[in-house]
Amino acid sequence: MDFSLSEEEVMFQKTVKDFCERVVGPYVEPAEEAEQFPKELYKRLGQQGYIAMTYPEDVGGVGASKIMECIFVEELTRVSAGIAAGFLVQQSLATYPLLALGNDTQKKQYLVPALRGELVGAFALSEPGAGSDAAGIKSTARRDGGDYVINGAKTFITNGTICDYALVVAYTDPSKRGEGMAFFIVDRDNPGFKGVKKLRKMGQHSADTAEITFEDCRVPASALLGPETGGFSMVTKNLRGGRVIYGARSCGVARAAYEAALEYAKHREAFGQPIAKFQLIRSKLARMAMEIDVARTYTYKVAWMLDQGIECMKEASMVKLFGSEMAQRVTWEAVQIHGGYGYMKEYPVERYFRDARLLTIPEGTSEIHLSIIAKGIGI
Ligand SMILES: Cc1cc2nc3c(=O)[nH]c(=O)nc-3n(C[C@H](O)[C@H](O)[C@H](O)COP(=O)(O)OP(=O)(O)OC[C@H]3O[C@@H](n4cnc5c(N)ncnc54)[C@H](O)[C@@H]3O)c2cc1C
Repeated sequence: MDFSLSEEEVMFQKTVKDFCERVVGPYVEPAEEAEQFPKELYKRLGQQGYIAMTYPEDVGGVGASKIMECIFVEELTRVSAGIAAGFLVQQSLATYPLLALGNDTQKKQYLVPALRGELVGAFALSEPGAGSDAAGIKSTARRDGGDYVINGAKTFITNGTICDYALVVAYTDPSKRGEGMAFFIVDRDNPGFKGVKKLRKMGQHSADTAEITFEDCRVPASALLGPETGGFSMVTKNLRGGRVIYGARSCGVARAAYEAALEYAKHREAFGQPIAKFQLIRSKLARMAMEIDVARTYTYKVAWMLDQGIECMKEASMVKLFGSEMAQRVTWEAVQIHGGYGYMKEYPVERYFRDARLLTIPEGTSEIHLSIIAKGIGI
């Protein structure tokens, strides 16, 4: 058993930490303030190969391991959880189905430019009436001659206002719950891609989130991605990878909060000494360091299982659940250690606290992951 990162992984970690601080860092405050994802950043991330890194060479990637992806995502999230959220949709949900189900033309037209950051994608599954229960969506795609006509409403869609295309999930056969769903590639300039409304959120302000209505949205049959039925479930079986990445996201935001709290505790004085000297503050910081380390070690273990092709449905849910809840505890304590300043906008910990709150909700809420784990242990 070897728990150390390879030389190449250590080098990569240094390079991406520098990239995220130097290149992404300056975008963060303006993007948070404007509540707008800096769209041009996709090109920078694409040029560096970070969007494509885990994809095969024939579509522009280098087939990087899940561990490498975790390393990158932790550094990016440490700098901005909101920017990381947009990046991760672009790098997985809005592109992976194209790799898994797309034909050569679709890959050339959408996947390759998206992985270069030249096209921005969105993944439109959730609806006002259906989130955890994905099979409960109401959107339909009706065949009409050589076209499909899509109707329905989608909500909470990351990249929704800035995307160039969306992968829209709709029922082609509503009589087959779950199995009757398909993906469609819908261009943003399609006249049926309507009612795009930006949503305002508690945190992760630099991620773009929107509600979208599809009203008699006519697309050619060539916009169907994969089979007319069953395509959606073929892709979702592979979503374990995204859950493991939540471990890295959680470590990123928690580490940012921990580092800020540690620095603050060393310099803030009370009762004639730095607050880091108080046993109660020391034990908070010790616990934060421990929690992050445990979450990262487990994240890497399950990333390794994925890389080895070992079945890890239950473990991926454990990473998502443990990591996202760890980030709540760590960011909570970081605010506490800052006292009143922790509640002020001038200090970044209030943002980390708000940003972390989201992590227990998308890609399976904590309750859904508890159910998967319970099933995994045979109950
Ligand atoms: C900022 C943000 C970005 C998002 N980005 C995207 C995106 O890009 N594309 C996209 O398609 N979706 C996106 N989502 C949607 C996200 O995936 C859903 O919010 C999530 O799946 C939960 O669904 P819901 O909000 O409808 O909650 P619900 O499913 O209604 O859940 C409400 C509560 O009921 C609980 N619950 C539900 N079912 C069960 C059960 N069986 N057992 C126990 N408890 C249960 C839940 O755990 C939760 O506590 C995003 C959401 C947010 C907030």
